[in-house]
Amino acid sequence: MQTQPTRQSILDFSHGELCRWMEAHGQTRYRAGQILRWIYHRQANSFGEMTDVGKALRALLSEHFTIPRQAVEKETASADGTVKFLARLADGEAAESVLIPERGHLTLCVSTQVGCAMGCAFCRTGSGGLVRNLTPGEILAQVRDARLKATEEAPLTNLVFMGMGEPLANYDNLVRALAVITSADHGLAFAGRRVTVSTSGLVPQIAELGQDTQASLAVSLNATTDEVRDAVMPVNRKWNIQALLHACRAFPLKSGRRITFEYVLLKGVNDSEADARRLARLLAGMPAKVNLIAYNPHPESRFERPDPETVLRFQAVLMEKHFTAVVRKSKGDDILAACGQLRADRA
Ligand code: SAH
Ligand code: SF4
Repeated sequence: MQTQPTRQSILDFSHGELCRWMEAHGQTRYRAGQILRWIYHRQANSFGEMTDVGKALRALLSEHFTIPRQAVEKETASADGTVKFLARLADGEAAESVLIPERGHLTLCVSTQVGCAMGCAFCRTGSGGLVRNLTPGEILAQVRDARLKATEEAPLTNLVFMGMGEPLANYDNLVRALAVITSADHGLAFAGRRVTVSTSGLVPQIAELGQDTQASLAVSLNATTDEVRDAVMPVNRKWNIQALLHACRAFPLKSGRRITFEYVLLKGVNDSEADARRLARLLAGMPAKVNLIAYNPHPESRFERPDPETVLRFQAVLMEKHFTAVVRKSKGDDILAACGQLRADRA
């Protein structure tokens, strides 16, 4: 009996790999770019639509590849316009992404793993450990599909890798996805400065990211002493604050760009004025901006959200020291879509 070959997601293929595939099947390399433009520029759902590709090649491609859309099982809308998508993956796991309306454009919060191994004490994603990495195609499908939700008035222009998982712990798949996301020729053509990768502080990969991609860097600092950071972010026991900030200072910043430092304010833990002053000293001289996020509560953690006055006082200290410090409004917290609340469950 002849078995049907398992078809592969074409979203997992880089341009170079598809070029080689074409050559191996007696085609010119040119075809690879043509097919990828159909998929990423023209949002094709099938090879049959690719009218300027010969019939025989279209049939061959259909035999070998799929062009998957996400299987969106649940779409939850927040009162503030934020929409959370739960996509079911081929193996029954689930990935969440969040589309956030901002003035005149949309931002998508992208996931890179199911769960997360980093074990930050305040984060719901990490509370169940790591289940698995997402493939490049699974990362890309979140972005390609979200594009369909965009309109002319509100195009999808910004991506933040701040969903489920630690992006730099899934480094190779992240970089492969980013290459497609920022390729104008045969990818999704996002501007590098509008694509931000957030990390809890995997120091060796921070340097690599600066070399391998166009993306902007965000770092979840969340504490100003090693003692506190050790307690809330176990990664700090491997790469402490000094090592992390050293990697940040060495990060190759393209002109006009800054590193974003995220700082989750946890009541009575890291939210004092002394913390704010220490934070200013730690970041002195760096092209930095600070995103302050009041802790978003969830059932898996024991922390509390500081009151609004404490948040504003913390911000004021930073601003006195001439830092850009923004208090991030938690969008979508009524649907557990805010920072640190994502945790899709298995079917
Ligand atoms: N793993 C990466 C990318 C995820 S970003 C990272 O940690 O940077 C998720 C962001 O939400 C991080 O800045 C994290 O510090 C923050 N966060 C996690 N749990 C949170 C919570 N309960 N409330 C507010 N922010 C939280
Ligand atoms: Fe993982 Fe980031 Fe959550 Fe920490 S904050 S557990 S690194 S997703």
